[in-house]
Amino acid sequence: MAPVRRTRIPVALTIAGSDSGGGAGIQADLKTFAVMGVHGTSAITSITAQNTLEVRAIHDVPPEVVKAQVEAVADDLGVDAAKTGMLSNTGIIQAVAEVVDRYGFPLVVDPVMVAKSGARLLRPEAEEALKKLIIPRATVVTPNAPEAEVLTGVRVVDLDSAREAARIIVEEMGAEAAVVKGGHLRGEYVVDVLYHKGGYRLFKERRIEKATTHGTGCAFSAAIAAGLAKGRSVEEAVEVAKKFITMAVDYGLEIGGGHGPVNPVA
Ligand code: PLP
Repeated sequence: MAPVRRTRIPVALTIAGSDSGGGAGIQADLKTFAVMGVHGTSAITSITAQNTLEVRAIHDVPPEVVKAQVEAVADDLGVDAAKTGMLSNTGIIQAVAEVVDRYGFPLVVDPVMVAKSGARLLRPEAEEALKKLIIPRATVVTPNAPEAEVLTGVRVVDLDSAREAARIIVEEMGAEAAVVKGGHLRGEYVVDVLYHKGGYRLFKERRIEKATTHGTGCAFSAAIAAGLAKGRSVEEAVEVAKKFITMAVDYGLEIGGGHGPVNPVA
């Protein structure tokens, strides 16, 4: 009998929280994967009851169920690249570190800590586990300025301090590459700083003065993971993701009473 012919589409996996409002988390990631032309899969770490204004409730998935989701995807579909978003607690972080080691897929880490609405998406006591167990396993880490400061202790206020934080995440904390995002800094342009293989590259786009930024970090890191899944280099993946996220904010959805969601399918 002739073998079943299968088309090969790259598979990307998001290991992240669910946002009931559809703006951030796995919902943003899966939209991003779809628009980037990869097959999106998910391992849900936490269920949030959330809208554009607030996070009302958080219910963490047991670590063994997070692990089982990754295993189910990896054992059958294969994972060309993955990203992490909200990891919530130490048990989930340990489970994720274990499966990343077992399957060895490239990993983009969005070190999610606090939502724009102010809700904590990572327990403070889990910050050490994120630094020790997840950052060293990352292909690319994508902190914004406040997250970069928590990770490295460097107060990120300008390009020089962003460069220093990115270097520390790689040279001292063990990631392969780091992109410190410039969205929280001032200026006419948003400049992201990539440190990789001992060198820097800057990615600059015009600043979009809009409030439709809910889920920006999620969609950006998902876009990088999609690029890696398609075989792009880190530099190419970040370059494409930067242009993509600028457009997704520009065409963001003015819905709800708070920060409207970015629009990855714009
Ligand atoms: N909610 C979930 C479940 C997330 O994974 C994330 C990701 O960062 C956020 C909220 C953050 O949303 P915001 O972009 O509003 O900070």
